[in-house]
Amino acid sequence: MREYEKTGLLSMKELQVPSKKQLAKGVAILECVQEIPCNPCVDSCPVHAISMKDINAPPVNDFEKCIGCTKCVGVCPGLAIFVVKVKDDKAWVTLPYEFITVPKVGDSVQALDRTGTVRSKALVKKIVKHGKTMVVTIEVESCLAMDIRNIKV
Ligand code: SF4
Ligand code: SF4
Repeated sequence: MREYEKTGLLSMKELQVPSKKQLAKGVAILECVQEIPCNPCVDSCPVHAISMKDINAPPVNDFEKCIGCTKCVGVCPGLAIFVVKVKDDKAWVTLPYEFITVPKVGDSVQALDRTGTVRSKALVKKIVKHGKTMVVTIEVESCLAMDIRNIKV
């Protein structure tokens, strides 16, 4: 049994982790590890950075090709894609959001990690609607870039 199946949480060693250089330009982290027949992320990518061996295989992002455009974030039915960009002491995390309480650009919200624990405040920088999914970009401290994966408004 894999670790996430025991804990219900993905650990860093179960994820594709970008290099510092790749994080500096901004790349999509695909937190999708289960073998399910799904591939809208592959079709959404304008630079063909996302691939999978077959329709049931977990997707893989070629961080060298990825341009951090965030197009894949809103199409993922599993809400499993996050674009992370880091510069100096700041990080911008773009995440999918489908709760009823809607944030606005400029709001200060709570930034949650994968366990749902509040880790810091975050500033809402950008919101793009993709169907019923909002694609929200928040700013947090760079040390939290690979931890923050949700917000509470
Ligand atoms: S962020 Fe853009 S370029 Fe990167 S994998 Fe997603 S769709 Fe492709
Ligand atoms: S669209 Fe989302 S759930 Fe489907 S394969 Fe891609 S990352 Fe996984």
